Amino acid sequence: MYTFSIKTLGCKVSQCDADNLAKHLTDLGLQMSENSPELCIVHGCSVTGRASQKTAQTIRSLKKRFPSSTVILSGCEALLAEKSGKSLQNADYILTETTKEAVKKMLDVFGIEATQNNTAHYHNGHTRAFLKIQDGCSQFCSYCIVCRIRGKERSKAISEVYNEAQELVKQGFKEIVLTGIHLGHYEPSLPELLRKLEKIEGIARIRLGSVESLETTDELIELAQSSKKICHHFHMPLQSGCDRILKAMNRPYKAVDYLDTVNKIRNTMPNASIGTDLITGFPGETDEEHQETLAFLEKIGFARIHIFRYSKRSGTPAAEMPDQVPEDIKIRRSGEIEKLRDKLVLEAYKGYENKQLRVIWETLEDGYYCGLSDEYIPCKVLAPQKNLSGSITLVKALQAEPDGLIVELQS
Ligand code: SF4
Repeated sequence: MYTFSIKTLGCKVSQCDADNLAKHLTDLGLQMSENSPELCIVHGCSVTGRASQKTAQTIRSLKKRFPSSTVILSGCEALLAEKSGKSLQNADYILTETTKEAVKKMLDVFGIEATQNNTAHYHNGHTRAFLKIQDGCSQFCSYCIVCRIRGKERSKAISEVYNEAQELVKQGFKEIVLTGIHLGHYEPSLPELLRKLEKIEGIARIRLGSVESLETTDELIELAQSSKKICHHFHMPLQSGCDRILKAMNRPYKAVDYLDTVNKIRNTMPNASIGTDLITGFPGETDEEHQETLAFLEKIGFARIHIFRYSKRSGTPAAEMPDQVPEDIKIRRSGEIEKLRDKLVLEAYKGYENKQLRVIWETLEDGYYCGLSDEYIPCKVLAPQKNLSGSITLVKALQAEPDGLIVELQS
């Protein structure tokens, strides 16, 4: 049987696309093998210049480790390579689509015979599955290449999403994570889709990927509040807490608008957790503006912050902006944000102490079962006699630690 491996870089959409690729390859008779792949797929990310470098490094190291295998570049980095006519990053082939037809065509090029494998099912090994419902973005944030290579916004039909979700439940997934490049622009509307998905028996949780604060509407908040399945977890990219920088980034809101959405969520669902993405060292960002961002982060109090040091991405307006911030300053600023983040995250975890949470258990590590609560808070419990993997239990949070909550089982 022909073997393959996939290395995925980047966001949840990228993971979702990579899972699809793996599924198609499995359906077509190939077998996943991390240790001796004949086909190595690098599902690359282009979100920053640094992400592109990492993609190229991954390709180089795979070529070195498996010299006789074929290396395929896919994902955003493949789209960028095709669009810009740039090099293949040293790969043997670029795969710009994740459809079964595109995968078949690629196998043909390398003379790999596809077979129909009706028995093997690809499962990513988690209790949650990513389900892509939307692609493309028309916002054109000034630093972003993704919107420039992913094309116009398009949404999967509700019926198609419903069928795919049902299929994932049949495969044993308990949680569906809805993803998209610009999820809040899902059409006809996210609440409409969610109402339909909630009806699927067997789905324990529906989690939203990243949704912009302006698109986290009252309707969406109220729906999450009244739902037993939609997670009280909101990941809303902030990028900066300074209005001047937000404007330069072409982000369509001010810090106060973001705060307004957070307040609405917290007034409706006091247990909700809020996560965000942040870019530090955007061109022209002064130390005072960086301080403004730190103060804003503190004001909100996040349970999760993904920090990105701005890196030039050619083909974007921000790359041409004057006053690019020197690397050493970006490193210092991101260090300061990390320090604050660690404090805020621990404070957020402490807010759950003595409260009841619902956890889906995943792995057993060092004598503890580890899982995630509905709010996306990592939880661990001293392993009981019974196997918890894949089960859902109510727990009481005993103690907050920097990497999550220690809990006790209640059911
Ligand atoms: S919202 Fe902005 S950052 Fe996100 S994909 Fe669209 S343009 Fe890029």
